[in-house]
Amino acid sequence: MEKTIAQIKADALDALKENDMAPQAIQDLVVKFLGRKGEVTQFLRNISKLPAAQRPMAGKQANALKKELSAIFDEALDVANNRAGQTEAPIDVSLPGRKKPRGTYHPITQVNQQICDIFTKMGFDIAEGPEVENDYHNFEALNIPKNHPARDMQDTFYVSDNIVLRTHTSPIQVRVMEKQPPPVRVIAPGKVYRCDSDLTHTPMFHQVEGLFVDENVSFGDLKGVLTAFVHQMFDDQTSLRFRPSFFPFTEPSAEVDILCVMCRGKGCRVCSRTGWLEVLGSGMVHPAVFENVGYDTNRYAGFAFGMGVERIAMLKYGIDDLRRFFENDLRFLNQF
Ligand SMILES: [Zn+2]
Repeated sequence: MEKTIAQIKADALDALKENDMAPQAIQDLVVKFLGRKGEVTQFLRNISKLPAAQRPMAGKQANALKKELSAIFDEALDVANNRAGQTEAPIDVSLPGRKKPRGTYHPITQVNQQICDIFTKMGFDIAEGPEVENDYHNFEALNIPKNHPARDMQDTFYVSDNIVLRTHTSPIQVRVMEKQPPPVRVIAPGKVYRCDSDLTHTPMFHQVEGLFVDENVSFGDLKGVLTAFVHQMFDDQTSLRFRPSFFPFTEPSAEVDILCVMCRGKGCRVCSRTGWLEVLGSGMVHPAVFENVGYDTNRYAGFAFGMGVERIAMLKYGIDDLRRFFENDLRFLNQF
């Protein structure tokens, strides 16, 4: 017998201290001391060579050591494995920290905010109203009576006979006028709903509508305000044209086109080769609307306009598919 139990234990603990606690090095120690040919195992085998009186004590000590070392190695292995998992690469303290990704506003929200900023700088207040609206505010007060053919222009979601998901934000303007006498200068941003879904239509989209009512308001004021808006939203080289149109709640009415932002009027796929893009609906408020809210039509006049936020965003950023806004694809959204 070359080594005593105490010597084997001391050697094992020293060896554990000396190696750098790498998992493989600890495994090697397990083999060296507890394996089939390990030192403790050898000691146990050689017990029969001892004088009979010493054998029981030596056996007891060797088995206790086997148990003790096994526990010590197991624990060391646990620690080593944990550490290896945490620090696969050495830490370079000079590297910049890992940034938490920062959220950004959705492009629709951004464009909506830009639109609101431009108009609030021109003195417009922002008004809000319910998305679930009654038939009166969504249609009748805006000169669209029941069974009027103009209702076909808007594919309405009906909640019940008399309740609808608002098809435009114009009912907000009616509610504002019911509450306050002129002058009125508000924009009404918000979600609107129509049962329509294809490349350029979604059942929910965003609108910003505006209303200006005062004495001596003319179509010239309408043109001035919308020209200022377009120049700030796109750029001040963007030409506009006003094209006669029809809306039940304005008379006269005009669609506002801007020179195509893609081809600058030469004609391309986006503008259907016309060189122009429709961006806004507008007009002088119909006297019937003023009568519904009790405004004196002899004293006051006003203009109104409305636009789709998605449409403005698509033109501003050159996006060809409306549905991208609602797919929540971060590769798309991160570009804004
Ligand atoms: Zn074009």
